[in-house]
Formats: sequence, C-alpha cells, structure tokens
Amino acid sequence: MKIQDKILELKKKKNAVILVHNYQIGEVQDIADLLGDSLDLSKRAQSTTADIIVFCGVHFMAEIAKILSPDKMVLLPDENAGCPLADMASPEELKKLKASHPDAVVVAYVNTSAQIKAQADICCTSANAINVISKIEKGKEIIFVPDQWLGAYVAKKTNRELILWSGFCPTHMRIIPEVIAEKKKKYPEACVILHPECREDSLWLADEIFGTGGMLKCVKESNKKEFIIGTELGIIYRLKKENPEKEFYPAAELAICPNMKLTTLEKVLWSLEEEVHEIQISKEISPKASVAIEKMLAIK
Ligand code: SF4
Repeated sequence: MKIQDKILELKKKKNAVILVHNYQIGEVQDIADLLGDSLDLSKRAQSTTADIIVFCGVHFMAEIAKILSPDKMVLLPDENAGCPLADMASPEELKKLKASHPDAVVVAYVNTSAQIKAQADICCTSANAINVISKIEKGKEIIFVPDQWLGAYVAKKTNRELILWSGFCPTHMRIIPEVIAEKKKKYPEACVILHPECREDSLWLADEIFGTGGMLKCVKESNKKEFIIGTELGIIYRLKKENPEKEFYPAAELAICPNMKLTTLEKVLWSLEEEVHEIQISKEISPKASVAIEKMLAIK
C-alpha cells in the first residue's frame, strides 16, 4: 500500500483533516484537504467538523488552528517546524513597548506566538494587513509586530505611521535586489511578483506585491506567460500545477525556508498514527489570542 493511501485510510478512520501551507513540499501539497495561505487555513481551521487537524506548516499556524478550534486535537507532524520571524517577538519586550505607548493599538502579524497574539488588539495576514490597518481610527498610535518589512510596506500603502518591531523573515531576506535585477535581465518579459515580507529595496523592483493567495490569483488572471516569483520556493510547485502553460522563475534560488521543508509524508502518517505532536495552549493565553484572531476574521 502506498503511503498516500495509508494516510487517506487513517484520515477517514480518525475523521481528520489535513491543512497544508503553500510553502510545503510538493508531495505534501498533493495530500491536502485544503492547501492555502495563512488566512485561508485560519478560516478552514475555524469551520472544520473534523476531530483532528493535521497541520502541515509551522508552529504558529497550528497554534492558530488550536485557538480557533480548542476542542479539536491539532497535530504538527514535526515539532521542530518553527518560524524564526515569529521567534523574534518576545512577550516581555512587547509588554515593555506597550507600556511606553499605552494608547497604541497593537497589530500582530499572524506569524507570531500565541503569547504575542494574546497581547495584541487584532491580528493580520499579508493578505489583509492593509485592510486591517486602514480600519483603525485615524490618529491612533499603532504598534506593528514583528515583520518590519511588511509593516513598512503597509505603512506606505495606508499612509499611516506605524511603530515597527525589528523582525524579519530570514528566507525573504535572501531575495535581494541584485538577484531580482539579474532575473529581470534574463527574462525581460516576465512579471515580477514579490511577497511583502521582502525588504523595501527589493519591493521597488516588483510589478506586483502579494501574499501567496494573491500571487496565485494574480498569475491565474494575468495574460503574461512568464513570472519571476519572489517568495519561498514551495509556491512554485502549486503555480506550475495550476498554470501548466506558464513559466515560473524563482527571484532567488536561496529562498527556501528550512522549517517549511521539515514535514514529509512519513511524518504526516506517523503524526496520524501516534497522534503527535499535539498543540497545547494555556487556558489564560488561548481566549485572549482568540479575540485578536476573530477580530481579524470579522474584517471583510
Ligand atoms: S518563510 Fe519566513 S515567515 Fe514563513 S515560516 Fe519560514 S521563516 Fe517564518
């Protein structure tokens, strides 16, 4: 029996659902019940009737699923799949920053721990960050945590001043202007689509700026035939599968997130068989983090 069939059988038996982020390896993407970006997956985690959620992504994503579905078992197939960007925001430091700006609204990118979300007023993803910030009352101070580049991009787009944390995604930092310029020279007809986690001097070279969900939509609707893609390379598998007649070139070959590559089919099967690694969030933290996530989900 193939490993994919074993996963399917066990999934049915245990009433489990498999949520997979766009950056996962191709064979894991292929077994997804839902493949998507953080926002899609958060919504799905909220509405599923499954007893078990197997989250093929990184720790903060599985935490969101657990916060939105506290009565379900949420499993992360590899317990070491973390997010260095999320780890850059410490709850103690955020507490101090909030104390020096007591009236500020705290907006936490979903790439944060549950403890940070519990201190935030509202969350955002790369897909809805502009919308979330635009809805905040004019004149209010806003603390944006933890991604400085997404924050700077949103500040510019909304014409708002944000108090930025100094975090960054090490994978997106590898997408530097020099390598994008080389690719543009090599593929002059290609449309350059970059993720807003890229640094500001790279974003200047973009034709379009989107999170992964937006990239998929943009490529599907575009008349262009060639695309230079500036985000974690896992998305190119899905882009090629959904658009076989179009060509995709990575903006930077080094844009690989090691954490996103930890999940394999073997680990998914083992996770389902042994019911590991279960995500647990303290009773004090979970409801507070839930308020910030729910507020984000309520924004249209
Ligand atoms: S790609 Fe960046 S933001 Fe996404 S999980 Fe990896 S380190 Fe975190």
